[in-house]
Amino acid sequence: MTGQYDLVVIGAGIHGAGAAQAAAAAGYSVLVLEQTGVASATSCRSSKLIHGGLRYLESGQLNLVRESLRERDILLRIAPQLVRLVPFHIPVYRHSVRRPWQVRAGLSLYAVLGNLRRQAWFTTLPRAQWGDLDGLVTENLQAVFRYQDAQTDDAALTQAVMHSAQSLDAELVVPGEFLGAQRTVNGYAVRYRTSQGEAECHCTALVNATGPWINTVLARITPRVPPATIELVQGTHIVLDGALRSGVYYTEAEDGRAVFVMPWRSMTLVGTTETRFSGDPAQVRPQTAEVDYLLRTFRRYFPERDAHVRDQFAGLRVLPLAESAVFHRPRETLFTTDAPQQPHLVSIYGGKLTGYRATAEKVLALLAPTLPARTRRGDTRTLPLGPKSNPSQKKSR
Ligand SMILES: Cc1cc2nc3c(=O)[nH]c(=O)nc-3n(C[C@H](O)[C@H](O)[C@H](O)COP(=O)(O)OP(=O)(O)OC[C@H]3O[C@@H](n4cnc5c(N)ncnc54)[C@H](O)[C@@H]3O)c2cc1C
Repeated sequence: MTGQYDLVVIGAGIHGAGAAQAAAAAGYSVLVLEQTGVASATSCRSSKLIHGGLRYLESGQLNLVRESLRERDILLRIAPQLVRLVPFHIPVYRHSVRRPWQVRAGLSLYAVLGNLRRQAWFTTLPRAQWGDLDGLVTENLQAVFRYQDAQTDDAALTQAVMHSAQSLDAELVVPGEFLGAQRTVNGYAVRYRTSQGEAECHCTALVNATGPWINTVLARITPRVPPATIELVQGTHIVLDGALRSGVYYTEAEDGRAVFVMPWRSMTLVGTTETRFSGDPAQVRPQTAEVDYLLRTFRRYFPERDAHVRDQFAGLRVLPLAESAVFHRPRETLFTTDAPQQPHLVSIYGGKLTGYRATAEKVLALLAPTLPARTRRGDTRTLPLGPKSNPSQKKSR
């Protein structure tokens, strides 16, 4: 056994980085095992929005929206170089499924859930300004609503959270593939593989933050903990040539789904799709039909713009298995544990980039009865996150 930790976190996507940062800030000793690289999977393939999730109002997920808007405000404060407010536009056409009154009602509720702060206000754009909207089609256009939400660089945000955890003495092992864990009297004996070979350590608590690998990783832990019934749903984005000047567009695809058209690194990012996935998460790739669907949606609203596909990528959502359409499926984060009263293992299912900090706090609250008392070293609501706050990376072991 080469080490004893309060927590071992498996996975260094946004949830693993967030759990490591929150635990290190609470004074715990932390080891993070990441098989490939920080932010190498879902957390670099999202829509890169730090948002309340306006569309989740349609499925009544008010708590999720309220929490996400609160987290957005925190991130705007602590990570101003990484998270920025951007104007969002909702064009409503004669053919749109959502009518202007419905959009107005949704945005009003969104503003209320955002505590009616200045950044929660929305406006209706005067017709005279429709020509400034990056070539958006104006035929049959009835109204354009403008509100604010935030954009980030998901990989850079994840790396900043991981660096913050490391600056609070969390250790990161990359490559560090989790091989298995065995329950002991007071925690778990953990086996993992590094570039130097196999290693072992012991921890009081284990956090499974492996995104789409979650149930594969859970199956490597003994005694067996029943996995949550989930399905993996892939979401594809395409990156097109040409910069957008006026912000993000919330368009409606031919099937009524919302598709975002967003400025991204002097180019245009369009996404996303919902395609059921089975197989090895490492093999997820955009499908031709998804790229065609996104291009069709883009051309419908921006027929005059360049639609040359510069890049494309796909990520996997972890959603509870259900009969209902994927679009309306709950997006709340789910947790499972190895014991209800005094858990030593927490698995994080699903979740949002936006809510990673709140998710990490919930993980620690679940483990509070199990973990020893420690002296707090920081508060994740105030610890600054930025591309410049990188401490020297600890060596892989
Ligand atoms: C298409 C799409 C768009 C999205 N858009 C948004 C958005 O705009 N805003 C938003 O808030 N949220 C969005 N989300 C949700 C958000 O991106 C995810 O919830 C989040 O990135 C998941 O992070 P994670 O840490 O759980 O998983 P991941 O980022 O997938 O990280 C899991 C990590 O575990 C590692 N791992 C796996 N197995 C092992 C092992 N055995 N040993 C060691 N390491 C292992 C992997 O290498 C990986 O790095 C989107 C999701 C998708 C799919």
